[in-house]
Amino acid sequence: MNQLPSFPADTLAFDSAAARLTVDLAAIVGNWRMLDSLSGKARASAVVKADGYGVGAEAVGRALVTAGCRDFFVATAAEGRRLRGLALDARIFVLNGVWPGAEQDVFTHNLVPVINSPEQLEYLLGLGGSHDYSLHVDTGMNRLGLTIADAQALSAMPGANPVLVMSHLACADDPGDPMNHRQCRDFRAVTALFPRSEASLSSSGGIFLGEDYHLDLTRPGIALYDGGTIEAAIATIKPVITAEARILQIRTVRAGETASYGATHRFERDGRIAVVGAGYADGWLRTMSGSGVTARDDGSAGAFGFLAGQKVPVVGRITMDLTTFDISAIPENRVRSGDYVELFGPNIGLGEAAKAAGTIGYELLTSLGARYARRHVHGVPA
Ligand SMILES: *Cc1c(COP(=O)(O)O)cnc(C)c1O
Repeated sequence: MNQLPSFPADTLAFDSAAARLTVDLAAIVGNWRMLDSLSGKARASAVVKADGYGVGAEAVGRALVTAGCRDFFVATAAEGRRLRGLALDARIFVLNGVWPGAEQDVFTHNLVPVINSPEQLEYLLGLGGSHDYSLHVDTGMNRLGLTIADAQALSAMPGANPVLVMSHLACADDPGDPMNHRQCRDFRAVTALFPRSEASLSSSGGIFLGEDYHLDLTRPGIALYDGGTIEAAIATIKPVITAEARILQIRTVRAGETASYGATHRFERDGRIAVVGAGYADGWLRTMSGSGVTARDDGSAGAFGFLAGQKVPVVGRITMDLTTFDISAIPENRVRSGDYVELFGPNIGLGEAAKAAGTIGYELLTSLGARYARRHVHGVPA
C-alpha cells in the first residue's frame, strides 16, 4: 500500500480528472443539524439510499454518525450491509423490507426491515425469534405500505410490536396541497393504535410543514444534499456537491458552422467553443442539450456551465463523453484548455441544471455515474 498521506494518489487523479465531484461533508453535517433542529421535539434521521443520493453513502454516514445521527434509512439490504461497517451503533432501516433468502443479510447485520405488506409481516413473524421491525402504512401515496385496515387488524394481534410506525407524504414539497393534512390526520389515527411505537411521517418537505408533521422521527433525504427542491429550504440548506468537467479542447468556429451530432446548433457569428470531458454517461443528461432533443417539453434552451465568472450555454447535443459549451463571451486570456467548467454547484443550482433536463435534482444526483473522480472535503467539521 502506498502510504503518502500528504500527497495521496487520488489527489493527482482529482486534479487531472475529466470529470470530478467535490462533496462538502461539513455542509452535509450543517444541513443535518439544521434539519434536526427544525424537526423540533423529533429526531432527524438521514436517508442515504442510492449511495447517499449519489453523494457517497459511506462518507455521508461516517460524517453524520460523528455528528450524532443515530437513525439511517436505505432502500436495500445490500445498502444496509455496507453502511453497517461504519455506523456501528446506529439503527439502519431497510425500506424494501425483508424477503425469503435475504433474512441472513438483514438480521446478521442487525438491520431493521420496514414491513410493507401483510405477507412480509407473516413471513417475518414466522421466522420466530424477536426481530426489530418497522411498519410502513400507506396513507395515500399508493406506493409501498400496509393499508390502514391492515394496520388496524394487525394492531389487535398479540406480539405486534413495531419499533417504528411510518408513512410517506405524496405532496410534501407543496405546503398548499390539502393532501398533506389528510395524510397527517389519517396517520395520527394509525399511530394511536400503536402507542408503544415511535412514529415517523416526514421526508425533507414534511419537516417544513410544521410541528404536526414531526412526530418522533423525521426522514430527510434530499435536503441533506440540496435545498433547491423545497421553497422553504432554499435559504437554510447549503449546497453540498460541486460537479465539474475539464476543458479538453478549445475550438474556434466560423459563422455558419455547426456543433455536435445532427448539426442541430448553427453559429450565427464567429466564436469559440469549449469541449469538456463529461457527457450523458456521466449523468450529464442528453435532454439538457443546447438543441436537437425532442424529449424536453418545458421550452428551456438547455443547460449552462459556469466558467471564469459567467454562465456559458451548452450548444448542440450532449454526447456520451463530451459536451460543447459556447464560450465566445469569455475573453481569450481568461480561459485555457485544462480549466474546469462547473456543471452545478455554488454558481449553478442543482435544481436549475436538473430543470434544463426536464427532471429534478434527485434524478440528476443519482445519475452521476462512476467515472467522476470524487473528493470529500471538510470531513472533520469545525
Ligand atoms: C426517499 C424517501 C425519503 C426521503 O425523501 P426526501 O424527499 O429525499 O427527503 C423518506 N421516506 C421514504 C419512505 C423514502 O422513500
